[in-house]
Amino acid sequence: MKNTAVNLASGRAYLAIPGPSVIPDDVLRAMHQASPNIYEGALLALTESLIPDLRRIARTQHHVAIYIANGHGAWEAALANTLKPGDRVLVPANGRFAHGWAEMAQALGVEAQLLDFGTQDPYDLARISEVLAADKAHEIKAVLGAHVDTSTSLRNDFKALRGCLDSANHPALLMADCIASMGCDRFEMDDWGVDIAVTGCQKGLMVPAGLSFVFFNDKAAQQRRTKEYVSKYWDWESRSNPQAFYEYFGGTAPTHHLFGLRQSLDMIHAEGIENVWQRHGILARAIWAAVDAWGREGAMTMNVTNPALRSHAVTALTLPGASGTELRKWLEGNLGLTLGIGLGMAKPGSPEADGQFRLGHMGHVNGHMIMGLLGGIEAGLKALDIPHGEGALSAASAVIAGRAA
Ligand SMILES: *Cc1c(COP(=O)(O)O)cnc(C)c1O
Repeated sequence: MKNTAVNLASGRAYLAIPGPSVIPDDVLRAMHQASPNIYEGALLALTESLIPDLRRIARTQHHVAIYIANGHGAWEAALANTLKPGDRVLVPANGRFAHGWAEMAQALGVEAQLLDFGTQDPYDLARISEVLAADKAHEIKAVLGAHVDTSTSLRNDFKALRGCLDSANHPALLMADCIASMGCDRFEMDDWGVDIAVTGCQKGLMVPAGLSFVFFNDKAAQQRRTKEYVSKYWDWESRSNPQAFYEYFGGTAPTHHLFGLRQSLDMIHAEGIENVWQRHGILARAIWAAVDAWGREGAMTMNVTNPALRSHAVTALTLPGASGTELRKWLEGNLGLTLGIGLGMAKPGSPEADGQFRLGHMGHVNGHMIMGLLGGIEAGLKALDIPHGEGALSAASAVIAGRAA
C-alpha cells in the first residue's frame, strides 16, 4: 500500500547540507542569554580563553585573528594582510572554492595563476613543482588552495604541497582554506608547514555563521610587516595582539557568537580532537558503504572514486536526470531532511545540475543521525521509483558497528 499522501515531515528537522551544519542544543542554550557588559567582566575572560582553544583545533602554536565575518571574510583577511596589487599567487584548484578564493585575490589586484585539475582528481604535484621551480625570481608570493573543496568533496594533501615548496626552495607562503575541514578532517597546521589557515565557525565548529578565523605563523606575520598599507579593519596585527579588548574585533564584540563558540570548543575538547576526526571518518565510511550499495544496481555515484581522496565532512554525489533534485525535494517535503545542492559541477539550471547533490556530515553528527540520513534517502529512492541496489543500510550499519569487512 502506498502512503505518499501522508506527510512525515513533522518532528525534528535535519539540515544535512555542507554548511551551515547542525547547531548543538548546548550551543543554542549558551547563546540564549541577555547581552553582557562588553567593557569589563566575564566576557573579556571568556574571549581570552578562546584563543588557546582555537589554536588547539588548528594544531598551531602561532597566532589567530578573529573576524565577525563568514568564510569569505577570512579569505579576504588572509589576502589583505599578505599581498599587494601586482603580486602573484599560485592556485591549484579542484573545485569551486579554490576558484572563489582566486577571484577574490584578483579583485584585490593580485595576479592569480590557476592550475585547474578538474573536479575529480587530486593536485598534480609534479606540475605544481614544475611551476614553482620555474619561478626563479620568486614572483609567486603565496600558494593557496582548499584543504577540502566542498563542491567536489576532494581533500587535498597540504603536507605534500609544502613538500613542493620545500623541494623547489621556494619562499612563497602556503595558505589553506580549512572552512569545510577544520574540526572534521585531520589538519595539522604546524606539522604540515602551513603558514596561514582560514576557517569559519558554522561547519565543523557548529556555531551559526558569523565568525571566522585566520591562523598565521611568524613567517606570515613577517610578510604582513613588509606591507605599507593594510585595511584597518582587516589588519590582523591588533586583532591577534590587542592592547584593548575592542581591538579583538575592531569594534563591538560578537557577544552571542562568543558564547556559542565557547560551548562548541568545550564540546570538541571534551570529546578530543582525535576522536572528533575518527568519528567523522567512520560516519563518512558508513555513507560511502551505503552509496556503493545503491550504486550497484542504480545510477548513483560518488564524485570522488578513490576513498583516500574523499573528505570526511562532505560527499558530492550524482544521480543523473532530474533524480537528484527530485530526491532532495521529496526528502525535504516529506521527511524534514534537507540535502545540499550540487555546486560548481554543472551549469546552474542545466539538466546536468539536477543530477548533482551533496551530503554534509560535518560537526554535530553521530551514528544514529547518519543512519537516519541514509534511511531517509533509501525511502526517497523507493518512493520515487529510482532504481538502486539493496543492502545500503545493512552495509552502513556494519561500518558503524565496526563489523565491516
Ligand atoms: C563554506 C566554504 C567557504 C565559504 O564560506 P562562507 O562562510 O560561506 O563565506 C569557503 N571555502 C570552503 C572550502 C567552504 O566549505
